[in-house]
Amino acid sequence: SSPDILMVGAGVMGMLSALELAEAGQKVLMIDQGRAGLEASWAGGGIISPLYPWRYAPPITALATWSQQAFPDLIASLTDSTGIDSELSANGMLVTATDERDQALAWGAGLSRAVIEISDQEARVLEPHVHLDATPLWMPRVASVRTPRMGQALRQACLDHPKIELREHQEVSLGGDLDDPQAFSGSQRIAAHRIVLSTGAWTGYLLSGLNVRCPIQPMKGQMLLFSPCHLVHRVVLANGRYAIPRADGRIVFGSTLEDVGFQRTPDRDAFDSLYASAVHLVPQLATVDIEAQWAGFRPGSPEGMPWIGPMSEKLWVNSGHFRNGVVLSPASSRLLCDLMMGRTPIIDPTPYQPRNSV
Ligand SMILES: Cc1cc2nc3c(=O)[nH]c(=O)nc-3n(C[C@H](O)[C@H](O)[C@H](O)COP(=O)(O)OP(=O)(O)OC[C@H]3O[C@@H](n4cnc5c(N)ncnc54)[C@H](O)[C@@H]3O)c2cc1C
Repeated sequence: SSPDILMVGAGVMGMLSALELAEAGQKVLMIDQGRAGLEASWAGGGIISPLYPWRYAPPITALATWSQQAFPDLIASLTDSTGIDSELSANGMLVTATDERDQALAWGAGLSRAVIEISDQEARVLEPHVHLDATPLWMPRVASVRTPRMGQALRQACLDHPKIELREHQEVSLGGDLDDPQAFSGSQRIAAHRIVLSTGAWTGYLLSGLNVRCPIQPMKGQMLLFSPCHLVHRVVLANGRYAIPRADGRIVFGSTLEDVGFQRTPDRDAFDSLYASAVHLVPQLATVDIEAQWAGFRPGSPEGMPWIGPMSEKLWVNSGHFRNGVVLSPASSRLLCDLMMGRTPIIDPTPYQPRNSV
């Protein structure tokens, strides 16, 4: 029999949405054009907070706040059920944002211990190897996850779920129109009662098959990975660039933000620019080997506002989370499931309603 849901795209958004819907009793067929969890959800840094959260509109804060509370249980239950540890680390984040101090403190005022002023000396005690041009703000509750591991754990949880079928290395295309959308793999039609697009940066391209205009487009980001060195112990964000420590002492350093379409190759300019920022922030990194450089495609959207909800009775979207797709994934997936199942939504869905123009 046909699945209740065809989930197109198995990144963090598709996999968490599939798990939510399967837990709600839906039979889900999830298809990815590659291997599950290996696009933006693999490439991302895994900071469980928007970078400068006070710069975002309240609907982003609403999704982030719900998600941040959900993360510890989500990761613990994924680790229990799959044996794959996503390395959730709740060590906090130091942020230099001299010009935005008042705005940051005002934003944090309503939230417990979200943003705290500290002295230079306190900052040095927290991160002795980090060179800070200005006294940072301290966000003690910010966590991070190791994104490739979270992707592997989610993939395993989906494979293990009796109500989810995962097909990989199969590209899906769309035909028909919004009211009667049809999904195809090659020339073969894929039957399903409802279709969800969790196709990240590819969502605008896929919807063009229905003559629907959608502003979700790829925004390339490049990263560097430093060998184990234990020079940084919490996330440090300075001048738009950040260092994220992993449990084994490696440091992920990012990132660039490039509007170059689906051009995937990491390049020398990005390497040089990221390397200069990294060594400025942590001078001793000049003595540490670089293990890797990679690029990923964020699902870019105006103001970073995702589309979560129906475009028609049959076609739904959970996409466009731009720089914050990892942190926003639990709330976005729960909200999508609430709406699809006719349950009371965890938060007001209005701001995320797809704003399509045919
Ligand atoms: C360098 C970088 C750093 C980042 N850092 C952070 C961070 O620290 N914190 C944070 O919260 N977020 C971060 N992000 C953003 C975050 O990674 C993304 O917002 C998030 O991963 C998006 O998840 P997704 O599932 O929507 O997209 P993806 O993970 O890209 O998944 C979409 C999937 O859809 C599949 N697909 C597309 N088209 C088709 C098709 N036609 N048929 C079948 N399958 C298809 C793709 O193969 C892919 O697997 C970062 C991103 C980058 C690139």
